[in-house]
Amino acid sequence: MAGVVALDIGNREESKTLMEKLSDHYHNRKVEKRHKDAAKRFMRGLMSVQAPTQLFMFHFYIIPYLFEDYDEWTQYYLKVFVTYLAIQGVANWLCTILYDTTIPNDKDRPDLPGLNNRWQNPPDYFMSIHTTNQNGSALPMHHQNFDVSGFEWKYCEICKMYQPPRTHHCDTCEACILKRDHHCFMVGNCIGFKNQRYFVVLTFYAVLVGFVGGYFQYKYLQQFYYPQSYSWTDFLPPVAFYRWLFGTVDGMSLHICIMIIQVYLEFLFGFFGFTYFTTQISMIVQGKTLYELAKSIPIRSLNSVNHNFRSVFGDFWILNFFFPMQLIFRQREDGRSWEGIKLDHNANLQEKSN
Ligand SMILES: [Zn+2]
Ligand SMILES: [Zn+2]
Repeated sequence: MAGVVALDIGNREESKTLMEKLSDHYHNRKVEKRHKDAAKRFMRGLMSVQAPTQLFMFHFYIIPYLFEDYDEWTQYYLKVFVTYLAIQGVANWLCTILYDTTIPNDKDRPDLPGLNNRWQNPPDYFMSIHTTNQNGSALPMHHQNFDVSGFEWKYCEICKMYQPPRTHHCDTCEACILKRDHHCFMVGNCIGFKNQRYFVVLTFYAVLVGFVGGYFQYKYLQQFYYPQSYSWTDFLPPVAFYRWLFGTVDGMSLHICIMIIQVYLEFLFGFFGFTYFTTQISMIVQGKTLYELAKSIPIRSLNSVNHNFRSVFGDFWILNFFFPMQLIFRQREDGRSWEGIKLDHNANLQEKSN
């Protein structure tokens, strides 16, 4: 009998088409994780190469050639400005990556059943749950899973812990993300409560560095490379690389080759930066996250627009875009209780019944 079963399984394995085998291979969790890690490393490697080489090109080629007719001081200040842009971009990129917005699954994890009744010594982030009414008597059980804003504390089956409101599990990061906005494949991690401010500033600089930087780099190529090129195909990176390698053009140097690749990347970063910057600002104005928008979670913010911005960026939020203010002005909220943000339960129920 066992032999028959084994034979049957063997036949099924053999009868799989190549596409099915590929699909199995792809959906294997270990393989999937390897792919995701490789993609993350690739994007991070790309960013770490792009920033210094682009700065180098501007310092030693683009500014000296394109602004040749301007005096030394103008060139000097342009270089200072370009360096400032690069530092802001890199610093905010690093902060987006390094500020961990996951909720650690450690010994404090609130994974006991019957959270509200049996948890004797709750960690501070549970204090916002109302288990009693104003007179001090216990609320009925079905009210206890909702906090002041009407949010339900859900249990994450994967992390084995209760999630604060607006926290959601990310399959790619394999963790619960505090105020999860979205998983960003460009930076390789989730955007949430602790790193959203850096991410928004990063997208702002991606637009500046991408479009303005890309424009001047393109101008330079137009003046120094286009006259020697045969057609637009010479602007394709593999063709440019070939022409440099086999010396088909006089004076075709490696830096032109690198610059051609950079122009593509700059416009790509600029495009993504613009898309994300505008959506992020629109989400912050409404006091929502992209996750809530995508899942049609009926969130309403009763707070002012200014309050919503302060919630993400801390006090004097506009300064974040010009200086690294993050160490001086921290966010006042804890990312776990949400004053002035309401969940519309009626809308939620309607949604479910539809
Ligand atoms: Zn989780
Ligand atoms: Zn993620």
